[in-house]
Amino acid sequence: MDYRDQIKTTDVSGNRVKIFPAYVLGRYQRARMVVQVVLIVLFLGLPWLKVNGYPVLMLDIAHRRFFLGGQLFLPQDVPGLFWVFASFALTAALASSLFGKAWCGWGCPQTVFTDFFFRRIERWIDGDWIAQKRWSEGPWTFDRILRHFAKWGIFAMAALVVSHSFLAYFVGVDQLGEWMTRSPIEHPTAFIWMLALVGLFLFDLGWFREQFCLIACPYGRFQSIMIDKQTKAVSYDRSRSNDCVACRKCVNVCPTGIDIRDGLQMECIGCTACIDACDSVMDKLGRARGLVRYESELGLAGKPGPRVPTRTKIYGALLIVALTGLSIRMATHEIFQVDVLRATDSPYQIVDGGSGLGTRRISNHFWAKLYNLSPSDVTVALQFPEELKAQGIELIEQDRSALRLKTGESVTRSFFVIFPDKLLGSRGNLTMDLWTIWEFGASKNERKTVSLKLLGPI
Ligand code: SF4
Ligand code: SF4
Repeated sequence: MDYRDQIKTTDVSGNRVKIFPAYVLGRYQRARMVVQVVLIVLFLGLPWLKVNGYPVLMLDIAHRRFFLGGQLFLPQDVPGLFWVFASFALTAALASSLFGKAWCGWGCPQTVFTDFFFRRIERWIDGDWIAQKRWSEGPWTFDRILRHFAKWGIFAMAALVVSHSFLAYFVGVDQLGEWMTRSPIEHPTAFIWMLALVGLFLFDLGWFREQFCLIACPYGRFQSIMIDKQTKAVSYDRSRSNDCVACRKCVNVCPTGIDIRDGLQMECIGCTACIDACDSVMDKLGRARGLVRYESELGLAGKPGPRVPTRTKIYGALLIVALTGLSIRMATHEIFQVDVLRATDSPYQIVDGGSGLGTRRISNHFWAKLYNLSPSDVTVALQFPEELKAQGIELIEQDRSALRLKTGESVTRSFFVIFPDKLLGSRGNLTMDLWTIWEFGASKNERKTVSLKLLGPI
């Protein structure tokens, strides 16, 4: 049977074959550890950071509000969300085209939490990979049961920390803190969510592990199509196969159980453990490092091609465009937004026929959609400038109650503008300003002006 016919984590009957990767420390694993510490600090710390009173990053799906960099984005904000998603997608595409599955091995929370917490805890309690394998295959002695409980107890605590921090990205630390200090009976739904998350993380990071990367993760599959012959990936240099002493160290350290000597495989998550393992062997043998190294398929064939492939340049250029778009969007982001649309009924109505041309009064119907994207609650009022009122222009709102908008809320308000037809130009239209006054705080208010085009008979 060829190595491609079966994944290493299941046997021919489809049963799980548990992987016990050996621990290795080399230049890449040291660098990964630094990256993991930075990412974990960011993961735990980001929900606490606020800018302008807003979280730096929060996806409030329940209320359909998204916070990024201290700014509020609503689902209606198509340009803003487009630049956010485009920036993420192009960053992933650029990283994949440059370094293959770098995201999987270096940045993915699945790998970071498994490596940094769960595998480490396992090593502390069960010992190295040989001891772990022995414990797992041995009888259920008192010692093994004790170790098992200790290990899963600490796993559960790690899962609690991870799931609480994860939930904070969706509900905010204030809400989370309130739930944590109150009885679960007062917030049963949230409590059940939290229990489900803890169970899910415990199952995934404590037991399922590499199976998630191999079976469940769509991004892992998706990345494969972004890799080509010019992409640098963890590779075995067959031209130096005489240097290989078949020690299998590269296989023993692999968290997905593959043999990199068979070539680049879908299961590889780019963790670079096999590079460090093989380099340590080469060092001992006094041979050049790099039998296993980051290299492209063309590089291994001795035709390295351009330093930066065209595809990578295109991804890079598009990423610059997306980041520029996002920066401009954030710099020009307005915290009070108004969209005024003409109602879909008749364009105008003559509400007072008067005694003929020049004395009739015309009505135009509009919808105003008002968004409060500020961190405070506001009261909004629609108004005309005084000089327009003096010309006999009236504003009539169907709902006359005060418009009070909570942070992140939007409301649609119907209103009519009634004006004398003598103000109409020769083409039967009139353009004028409508003020929206946003009051927030005792004497603080802001005015946004919207241009209205009024229609009437010619
Ligand atoms: S082949 Fe090497 S880089 Fe790929 S998952 Fe295994 S150890 Fe990590
Ligand atoms: S670690 Fe290096 S020398 Fe040992 S089997 Fe793997 S490729 Fe060969």
